[in-house]
Parts: sequence; structure tokens; C-alpha cells
Amino acid sequence: MTDSIETPKGPAQNLPVQNLKDMADLVSLCKRRGFVFPSSEIYGGINACWDYGPLGIELKRNVKERWWRSMTDREDIEGLDAAILMHPKVWEASGHVSGFVDPLVDCKKCKGRFRADKLDLAQCGEKPSKKPGEGPDCQLTEARQFNLMFKTHMGPLEDSAAVVYLRPETAQGIYVNFHNVQQSARQKVPFGIAQIGKAFRNEITPGNFIFRTREFEQMEMQFFVKPGTDMEWFEKWKEMRIQWHLDNGIRKEKLRFHQHKDGELAHYAKAAFDIEYEFPFGWQELEGIHNRTDFDLSRHQQFSGKKLEYFDEQAKERYLPYIVETSAGCDRTLLVALADAYRFDGDRTWLALHPSFAPYKVGVFPLMKKPELVEYTEKVLGEVKTKFRATTDDAGSIGKRYRRQDEIGTPFGVTIDYDTLSNHTVTIRHRDTMVQERISVENLVRYIEDQFKNWNRV
Ligand code: ATP
Repeated sequence: MTDSIETPKGPAQNLPVQNLKDMADLVSLCKRRGFVFPSSEIYGGINACWDYGPLGIELKRNVKERWWRSMTDREDIEGLDAAILMHPKVWEASGHVSGFVDPLVDCKKCKGRFRADKLDLAQCGEKPSKKPGEGPDCQLTEARQFNLMFKTHMGPLEDSAAVVYLRPETAQGIYVNFHNVQQSARQKVPFGIAQIGKAFRNEITPGNFIFRTREFEQMEMQFFVKPGTDMEWFEKWKEMRIQWHLDNGIRKEKLRFHQHKDGELAHYAKAAFDIEYEFPFGWQELEGIHNRTDFDLSRHQQFSGKKLEYFDEQAKERYLPYIVETSAGCDRTLLVALADAYRFDGDRTWLALHPSFAPYKVGVFPLMKKPELVEYTEKVLGEVKTKFRATTDDAGSIGKRYRRQDEIGTPFGVTIDYDTLSNHTVTIRHRDTMVQERISVENLVRYIEDQFKNWNRV
């Protein structure tokens, strides 16, 4: 049994495999194949806004589904979908009105605006090979604080009483619902609340494709624990979260922890680690794991005047739980999946995506566009579709069709030829090795299922 699920080893050709070096290659693939398009493109686009196309949305749904299952399949985590617009006092309590600021510098020469703490990631407006401030004519102003929240008005009156904000993080929707969720789901501390949703930040320097945008999605989980057990839970969640990324097939050497030191720690945090990924533009944050203490619940208690304490029935103890937060960007996780999977050997480009992320798991093709082969293909495709998202393609040579699937990360190609009609076997081709095998149609779905189950071991 084990023998039949071994994936054949070895590249079919001996060209050295390269990984993603230039983001432009990924941006171009994403546009060409329908993963990500520039927003409002026919109007010339809008800075740093992107639309997910047919394959991008499938990949994004797969990312979210995998995260959601990893959280809410646990007995001690509940799900939530809170509104984007919240009572304006939420943002006073959270500290965002006064403190959600980035340092902004202007260049009087090129009129560029930059984040003072991220100048190393930016380019001088006149000499793109230089960093802002390093060009011969750069004239950077002193840094001033810029609030990143998008403001809008609720109702027909545009006066200050009607100001609301587009949420800059999903977490606050969880904190204000702490009692609602705990009581309705009859959860006992320690337990968590998970949420996926849009967040908005008026970033000073968005960029690097979908890495930093002004509208993005977060996948956040807030875990409520008894004070004193917080560091233990913090360590557990740190390990569980990096393992999740590894289980998604992300290469180990491309992931690392970055610890926030004293000067870097947010006002609410007792301890914070980022999970960083090495993008072609350097090591950057992918997810944050924070020990937020009882800061959030105590502030909401103070600003709302409502008690948010938890009563432990067994110990007959009343306390304000501490919160351990895991906060991942959905778009960033998707970008990491694509950037990490990108492969090029000088001839062939393919995405070595984890099967659970791949928009299509299988492509089923007739060797030629002959009615009897097409008919058999439809039958096999129907069967495969009962288990996996699958597609077909009959345009061009079989080699070209394989390449098209390689570029969008489809793990398996299945070809129906004349031998199939007589002996009911098909060719199955492995995306990453290009190795081809002949297996019986009867075993096809089982074979693919077994390959996927054992994917992490390959
Ligand atoms: P930075 O300091 O880089 O602006 P941050 O530390 O403020 O980021 P968090 O508030 O910890 O970021 O956000 C949690 C996660 O949300 C990040 O790890 C990232 O994956 C995602 N995220 C934050 N801002 C953006 C953005 N502008 N575009 C896309 N994803 C984002």
C-alpha cells in the first residue's frame, strides 16, 4: 500500500531550478493567469488597490478555509463576523484615535511621501536606485505623525458627530463581543475567538504588490486566558502558528521569528513576535503573535462602563482575562504562498503550491480533440470532480496544456488517450517532477487522495 502512494522522485530534466527573484515576474504571472489584477485598470488603476481574479479568489478562499478550519475545528475556539463600522468610541478605547500613527516625511524636491521608519524599503522619487534622503537633491522634512484610520460619515449629515472609521484591524470586534460569545457559546477561559475580515489603513507607503495595501483582509484569533498563564499560552501559539505556515508547505528556511524588543513593543504588549518571510525584497512580517495583557478588555470596560470580567465558577474567582493574539494578513499569506511556490528552470515556470491551496487540484485532458477521447474525458472529469476541484482543456498540444496548468499550480494532469479506451488506464503527470505514470481509471481518485494525504512527507 505504501509503495503505491510514493511520489516518483527526480526532475525529468536537469535544469537548475530557480526561485522567485523579482516580484515583477510574479505580478506578471498573476495578471496573465487571472490571480490578481490592478483595481480599476481601465481607468488607469488606483494606487495599491488590487482585485482578485478567478484563480486568485479560489486561492484566497483556500487560504481562509485552511486558517478557519485550523482555528474553529478546535473545541476551544469560536468564530465571529463583526461589522466593519463600529461605535466611534471603540477607537478611542483601543488607542487608535490618539496613537495609530506612522511617522510621515515629505521630500520637498520630488514631492514623495515616505514612512520615516521604513525608508530602507522606499525609493527616491528622482533616483530610484537610491533610498529617500540618499539622493543628491533629496530634501526630507522632519517626521510628523499621520493617523492611518480612514474616516467617513454615517447617515446624511457630514458633521463631526457622525464620524465613523473603517476598522483598521478586526480585533476590536472580537473584544467588544467577548461576553456575547463567551456566554452564548458557554465557553470557559481559556478559549479563543477567530475572525476573518477586511481592514483598512491609509498607509503612507503601500506597495510591493499585495504586500502592503490600504484595503486588506486579516485572519485574527484572540485567545482569552487567566492572568499568569499568558506566557505559557503565548509560547504555545507562537509554535502552533509557525507550524501552520510550515504545514502549508512554506519552506522552513524562508520563515523566522522576529522578537519585538523594548523600543519596538506596542503600548499594549507584554511580549510580541512576528513571523517573518524572506520575500525577494527582504525579510518582512507575515503574522504577529502578541501578548496584549488585559489592556483591551480593561480599556473597553473603562470606556463603555460595562463590566467585562470573567467569573470562574469552579475557582469562584473573578478576573479580567489576558489576551494572546495571533494576527495574520490573508493577502500576505496568499502572497507568501505564491512567492514561495514560484519555480523557473529556464524553460518551464510552475507554482509548487500546496495542494490545499491550489485553485485546481487536477486537470483532465483528452490527448486529442477526438469525440471518443473527449467523451471519456468528460466521464473521468465528472468522477474526479466529486472529490476535487478539477478542470479540462483541449486547446493545443498536450505539452502546452501541461505547462498552462503548471503555471497555475495544478498538482496533477491526467491524460486520456487511445489506450485508455481499450484498457481503462490513464497517464497521470506530477507537476513538480513532471514524472508520468500509467494507472487505472478505477484507482485514479484514490491515488490522488493518497498523494494529497502524504503531501507533507514528500
Ligand atoms: P506594519 O508595522 O508593517 O505596518 P503592523 O505591525 O502594524 O504592520 P499588524 O497590525 O500587526 O501589522 O497587522 C497584523 C497583520 O496584518 C500583519 O502581520 C500583516 O500580515 C497584515 N497587514 C497589516 N497591514 C497590512 C497592509 N497594509 N496590507 C496588507 N496586510 C497588512
